[in-house]
Amino acid sequence: MQVSGEPSFRESVDLMFKRASKLMDLSPGLEQKIRVCNSTYTVRFGVRLRGKIETFTGYRSVHSEHMEPVKGGIRYALSVNQDEVEALAALMTYKCALVETPFGGSKGGLCIDPRQWDEHELEQITRRFAYELIKRDLINPAQNVPAPDMGTGEREMAWIADQYKRMNTTDINGNACVTGKPIAMGGIQGRTEATGRGVQFALREFFRHPEDVAKAGLSGQLEGKRVIVQGLGNVGYHAAKFLSEEDGCKVVAVIERDGALLDPKGLDIEAVRQHMNRNSGLLAGYPGAKHVADGAAVLEEACDILIPAAMEGVIHLGNAARIKAPLIIEAANGPITYGADEILRQKGCVIIPDMYANAGGVTVSYFEWVKNLSHIRFGRMQRRAEEARSRLLVEELERLSADQGLGWSLGEGFKEKFLQGSDELALVRSGLDDTMRTAYQAMREIWHSRQDVEDLRVAAYIVSIGRVAATYRSKGL
Ligand code: GLU
Repeated sequence: MQVSGEPSFRESVDLMFKRASKLMDLSPGLEQKIRVCNSTYTVRFGVRLRGKIETFTGYRSVHSEHMEPVKGGIRYALSVNQDEVEALAALMTYKCALVETPFGGSKGGLCIDPRQWDEHELEQITRRFAYELIKRDLINPAQNVPAPDMGTGEREMAWIADQYKRMNTTDINGNACVTGKPIAMGGIQGRTEATGRGVQFALREFFRHPEDVAKAGLSGQLEGKRVIVQGLGNVGYHAAKFLSEEDGCKVVAVIERDGALLDPKGLDIEAVRQHMNRNSGLLAGYPGAKHVADGAAVLEEACDILIPAAMEGVIHLGNAARIKAPLIIEAANGPITYGADEILRQKGCVIIPDMYANAGGVTVSYFEWVKNLSHIRFGRMQRRAEEARSRLLVEELERLSADQGLGWSLGEGFKEKFLQGSDELALVRSGLDDTMRTAYQAMREIWHSRQDVEDLRVAAYIVSIGRVAATYRSKGL
């Protein structure tokens, strides 16, 4: 995706960091200490597959250990390389600081096309990669906790957790070595949807502030807004589904590997996804919407909100000037290059930055890690007690009404909702909603109170760098 003459992904993240750090009063040397990546481990390992030894290259990069464990996903893609893993690890540091998850930043990747291998082969490859990382404490509940990213999901996380437990049979906290696991392996409700859900909560919070909405040249509520989503993977699919089904947005286009689907009346995201599941992940052949082969051109179509949810560098010097969306929310990590960011800002486009917009995933990962360390599901102790107290109140109101002949009756819908104690999913969503609101407000406060802060990205960096710096200072550095 990189247009020649543009900085690499890691350099792009560094340049964005520097835009913010030069507006801060950091002690000498601290700026560099925070910015640089602490270490990157590269491993090449062989696995006997299909009658021969296949060699794979993998990475685990640790950007900042100002808090431990460090946290960040493991990506499976042919495009994985050291520069990318380091950029993504840096973004994890800033993301975790911004949403107050007590982690440093890390990221891993394996150069592989997961579609080329069968399930049992992927299991062998994943277990071997995990083995290499575990024996160096690069997967460990107290030191480094991976999670899913592009090309990986619950299945891979289950293999990693199992591998860790085989190698650490007496570690009672073994399940906390990785997040994004299936429920049966210590996962948490709502983790799979979390990043997409976080994008929805971020947009809801943005639209609670008419002043901010006006900065993008928009007005009104989220309802009825025309949305284009690039990438219908786990993040893009959930964001598009929730925004269209729950907030009344119209998803007028989705972009995927084989082009784009367009429907000005709004696409049925669930139906599109079902179609993709039946058609090896392709959009072509979907009935009831126009299919065009040139997906990249659809990024430039008119809409209210553009959601790049696939990978880095899709909005670059080559297309930034033609992007019409007045509001972009970065559901992917690094979808806008440093140069493109500048062009978009000059055009007055508001960008809700990646480190905030897609932080829902790591937020719920944090809840999962806490659940694993506490060995109890959220809500297990409180749920029925909460229900009993609510019932007491409802019964008392009904008794009073009957005794006094007031003729009150509580609506059935109200009663049903009020009497329901919060289960794990409800608590996870509540914690995520609170996190997304609080982090937005921290960014917005800087954005509005400082003359020299032009955009939300710089505001986000200022909040994050400030928090990482405060941790270093309290350690006496
Ligand atoms: N891979 C996700 C991200 O980029 C999730 C990381 C995590 O949950 O640790 O934020």
